[in-house]
Amino acid sequence: MSAPATRDFRRRSTAALADAELHANLRRATGQTLAKRRALLAELPGADADREAIAAIRAQSHAAREALLAQAKVQLAAAGFTVHEAADAAAARALVLALLEAAGARRVVKSKSMITEEIDLNTALADAGIEVVETDLGEFIVQQLGQRPSHITAPALHLNRRQIGALFAERGLGPASEDPEALTAQARVHLRAKFLAAEAGITGANFVVAETGTLVLLENEGNIGLSSSLPPLHIAIAGIEKVLPRLADLDPLLRLLPLNATGQRAGSYTSLINGPAPAGDGPTARHVIFLDGGRRALAASPEAEILACLRCGSCLNVCPCFRHAGGHAYGGVYPGPLGILLAPYLGGAPAPAGGASAHGPATSLADVCALCDACAEICPAEIPLPTLIWKARTAREAASGAGSARPWRLFAALTARPRAWRFAGALLRLALKPPLRGLTARLAPTWNAERALPAAPARSFAAELARRHPGRLA
Ligand code: SF4
Ligand code: SF4
Repeated sequence: MSAPATRDFRRRSTAALADAELHANLRRATGQTLAKRRALLAELPGADADREAIAAIRAQSHAAREALLAQAKVQLAAAGFTVHEAADAAAARALVLALLEAAGARRVVKSKSMITEEIDLNTALADAGIEVVETDLGEFIVQQLGQRPSHITAPALHLNRRQIGALFAERGLGPASEDPEALTAQARVHLRAKFLAAEAGITGANFVVAETGTLVLLENEGNIGLSSSLPPLHIAIAGIEKVLPRLADLDPLLRLLPLNATGQRAGSYTSLINGPAPAGDGPTARHVIFLDGGRRALAASPEAEILACLRCGSCLNVCPCFRHAGGHAYGGVYPGPLGILLAPYLGGAPAPAGGASAHGPATSLADVCALCDACAEICPAEIPLPTLIWKARTAREAASGAGSARPWRLFAALTARPRAWRFAGALLRLALKPPLRGLTARLAPTWNAERALPAAPARSFAAELARRHPGRLA
């Protein structure tokens, strides 16, 4: 997987902006979730304390990651799980295929999991002739379309009920409908048969508790519970950063994760899995595959704090770039603020010795950010996303010796020299007035393609201030 870049984002987002229906879908869906979250926050006075607790837990998990991973492996094995570790996406895919082959499994039900998108598991299973069915409703919809999820917690957020109804009718899932309940019922009938026939279930993992060897899965639809409890074989894939020290750490996480993901007081289902079920009562074999896939390289980078991400998706909902362009514009598995930081690292080859990413420090996707700070304000793990994006951007520019750093350096030099600043301002005002205005517009074609040139002010800010408040700039 090559890392996505700004020019691709520009091309895709331009197309997205021209799609009025997509734009309306994005604004409605993200707006609804944010409104529900806001309303609920007013009733939760402890949310700030929970945020601080989560940040502390995730910092502890990061600092002790390798020790916690080792402890989790021991405890999971003691609980009856078979534990594996994959260095990269190819190794993870090979492990899954080997486990399915050993079990003779040809039909797989899968629950929503970004890590399986990261390793492109569905393609590998299909290439091996194994039927894989997404069981989360949103994932099921995007699978029918041959698309990737456009949002990490709401995969089909870019579509409305009319579009989904038309898709279901076209696929023969039932009569055309725009009623969400009718559409859900159509999907349920189809998926029920798949659940009953599946020989294996594949899930991700929200968390793994090192203290007890417990796999933690949160959801709303019940499909994760079925995928992990109905077929005789269950395979869970977890990033190595998902290990928590203690069971008690779940307390603030189980409150803030549903709140930020969907604006709910609590998730509908929380599964705590402590190993295989007794014979005849669910999976007799459970495997956990821990994936590095670039995470150790990321942990050694200046953007390491993004590993604390809970995958709640709220930074996407609030990001003006995501809300206008949609997730597919980012071109990678993870869109939005976190995608900018994860894209250069996750899903690639293992890190070479020394910890540098196989993909380099960052991609120009880091330019797709207005540094507005909205994502940092909403993040339940207190991840300073804009600061990390800015670090990634400046690191890339320093490495390439080009980019937007040059104009900013010029700006900084001018602000440090009052006479030069006044002269540059006078020049700019002249350039924005006829007859030079047309020439200026032609000299800035990229900038001018998406914005209108501002009108030239009659005088500088300092001159205007002096005019209105004489003596103020003495
Ligand atoms: S700081 Fe950047 S990434 Fe974060 S919400 Fe604003 S524009 Fe989006
Ligand atoms: S970066 Fe923060 S807000 Fe964004 S998905 Fe991760 S935890 Fe949620």
